[in-house]
Amino acid sequence: MPALILAITIVIGAIFWWLGLPALRARRRVAISLEPLPHAWQQWLRDDVPAYPRLPSTLQQRLHGLIQIFVRQKSFVGCNGLVVTERMKVVIAANACLLVLNRPGVPRENLYDDLLSILIYPTPFIVRENHRHASGLVSEGARVLSGQAWDSRRIILSWEDIEHAPSLGHNVVLHEFAHYLDMEDETMDGAPGLASPAEFREWSTIFWEEYDRLRANLQAGLPSLIDPYAATAPAEFFAVVTEVFFGRPHELDQQHPLLYQQLRKYYRLDPARWES
Ligand SMILES: [Zn+2]
Repeated sequence: MPALILAITIVIGAIFWWLGLPALRARRRVAISLEPLPHAWQQWLRDDVPAYPRLPSTLQQRLHGLIQIFVRQKSFVGCNGLVVTERMKVVIAANACLLVLNRPGVPRENLYDDLLSILIYPTPFIVRENHRHASGLVSEGARVLSGQAWDSRRIILSWEDIEHAPSLGHNVVLHEFAHYLDMEDETMDGAPGLASPAEFREWSTIFWEEYDRLRANLQAGLPSLIDPYAATAPAEFFAVVTEVFFGRPHELDQQHPLLYQQLRKYYRLDPARWES
């Protein structure tokens, strides 16, 4: 009989421990976020994260906390011989956390909770893919990528593309983490999880209009603030305009005000109003 009581006690204890895990994790995250940011990290943020110097100081402080959690709790894996440095971790974490800076629940939850690893290649990497044709035939192809939101557990990035972004509106970390957010509702379709059906309808209407307009303008040979790659799929459109939203917010607000407003509402941030 005592053995039975002991077994029941152990099972009940295990259930309470398991139920208490999210609360434990949340408390741990809050504690980590309150630790002071190392001096060198602040310098890297100023030098290597273009949006950082423009952030209001309250948001900078908030970002410091999220970076500490992200760096501590995610695994960074160097591929093809790359040795991952602390600076790489901080720069990637800062850009990833920028997207969720004002997200409800953060930092206790909603901080890329399912993501385990960031795989970093020194240069763009090759991905082999099978393509099924309408005829049923399958052909094998290869693509060279700067980044890939592989699944809910892994994101792959090329350090060369992070370090030497071709222009202010390009940011491969923002791009891939926008894909990650897009995938959270199980589909990567250019519409991340939104709060209500009404918000989804509004988002869809504006995004489809902007997407069609971009494709029409590109076909007509007109110049565009938004990189042509955005016109390849709705999911790419969302990822690319996220890059522009943080990299060239004033121009996006002026040239595409409805699109800007949708992104402002989703990210709960207003980068066009930050210092220039
Ligand atoms: Zn993409």
